[in-house]
Amino acid sequence: MDASAPPRAPLQAPSRAVLPTLAPPLTRSFVGGAAERGEGMRLPVFYPATGAQVGELAEADAAEVDRAVQAARRAFLRSGWASLPTERRQEMLLKLHDIVLAHADELARLECLNLGIVLRELRERHMKRAAYNFRFFAEFIGQAKGEVYDQMAGYRSFVVREPVGVAALIAPWNAPVALASMKVAAAIAFGNTCVLKPSEQTPLALARFVELLHEAGLPDGVVNLVNGRGAVTGEALVAHPDIDLVSFTGGTETGRRIMSVAGRRLKPCTLELGGKSANIVFASADIERALDAALVGIFSNNGQQCLAGSRILVEKRIADDFIARFAERAARIRVGDPMSDATELGPLASAAHRARVLGFVETARADGAKLLTGGEAAMPGGDLDGGYFVSPTAVLAPSNAARVCQDEIFGPFAAFLTFGSYDEAIAMANDTRFGLVSYVWSDHMPTIERASRELHSGVVWVNTPMVRELRAPFGGYKESGVGREGGEACQAFYTESKTVTLPASPVAVRRLGL
Ligand code: NAD
Repeated sequence: MDASAPPRAPLQAPSRAVLPTLAPPLTRSFVGGAAERGEGMRLPVFYPATGAQVGELAEADAAEVDRAVQAARRAFLRSGWASLPTERRQEMLLKLHDIVLAHADELARLECLNLGIVLRELRERHMKRAAYNFRFFAEFIGQAKGEVYDQMAGYRSFVVREPVGVAALIAPWNAPVALASMKVAAAIAFGNTCVLKPSEQTPLALARFVELLHEAGLPDGVVNLVNGRGAVTGEALVAHPDIDLVSFTGGTETGRRIMSVAGRRLKPCTLELGGKSANIVFASADIERALDAALVGIFSNNGQQCLAGSRILVEKRIADDFIARFAERAARIRVGDPMSDATELGPLASAAHRARVLGFVETARADGAKLLTGGEAAMPGGDLDGGYFVSPTAVLAPSNAARVCQDEIFGPFAAFLTFGSYDEAIAMANDTRFGLVSYVWSDHMPTIERASRELHSGVVWVNTPMVRELRAPFGGYKESGVGREGGEACQAFYTESKTVTLPASPVAVRRLGL
């Protein structure tokens, strides 16, 4: 390990009002248009910036999950939502867009209170994206195309798409409203009803979000919410016989479990799972932009994002300078109060997660990696010393086989590797069990063209940090997922196709039993 790490930026002092928003004392499930009584087991909810408990969650047991699924089933069969004319459903989706946008600040504060992502980021990026998800699907369903086949002589076949039924939507904690809203918007846009289960760590903003959808006029039972742990509430939901399909975002091991439970009843699943994405910087790149993007790629969202560029592969002839400048900039990142606009990196989401992330410093050491910066808990001072802060961390790995290059750390922790040739870079990038996204930095067109064909990942971003084109499919190769999200991908998942075949004139039918 290198003891000569660059000097650190001063940490952000705690603001005077560390908790400007109060969470409701008890977060309850929301079923059939009303809050449940919340008699289940109580789980604490923490503010990651101080470690203070800010509320409690009432866990839904199997009986409460059953009520939620039945409410969704009734709404599917009887509320008229499934058969609503497209224009009317579009109008409702646009109202949902408006109400989420109008409450972006409130939702961002609640989200910050149990997640610790910088408030500015939540308000400007996550909540705007959440609102946009409803507008996107409102527009998509108005433009969807049909299929007609008339090649077979004397017949015409057309394909209609019908909603599947009741969807279980299971969300992770790292971007609760931004990610869950995509699932909710897609499921209901195509006429389904749903039961949403947030992560037990981050129930606050999604509970308010579901209330807001109802305040905007969404019929009761179309969107239901159950709170609780994965093994209790989540598993009861996935296994419920009246759930028709499952959309899950979370860790790869959980995805494996969910697919096996859903598979017993042959329920279709989409799984958006983990990643260990390569960010490849060729010497032919615009180096300044690539450096800015490498920092954003690993440190935004407090380092907790599936699509983080967490393995940074740099061509040898520019590596020393690039890596030194990255470490210097990382050390200057302002760590502190997530409610302050000056903060660049907030706390990790939980104490256990911080312990896990810091555990990788020891793992890196054991595998012979060199610590470039960070690698320790950060103490911003005052109340924030009880928070789950980690200083921005970077290591230089001895090889791609090091565990910090193979395991998803899911924190502000970059692992650097260097390469001498194009082939070496692509081989290293692909040598992983994951395949969510890849980043390529080069101004050399043949390199870009070849790399975008040869990288094994669901998305390749060239000369840009992460950017989501919702019309295009998003999802992972290999252990990063099954299925895709996006306009047509969601249509395929959330609808059943039905082929109707008609003869052009009365057909001659073979006559049996005369
Ligand atoms: P997690 O797998 O621990 O939990 C995700 C959700 O699944 C939670 O709501 C949890 O309660 C629930 N769950 C857990 N066990 C369950 C079970 N047996 N049955 C039903 N539900 C169960 O993941 P996390 O820690 O919340 O999120 C971090 C992970 O999510 C990372 O691996 C990250 O890469 C991944 N992620 C992927 C994407 C993507 O689009 N590919 C996006 C964000 C996060």
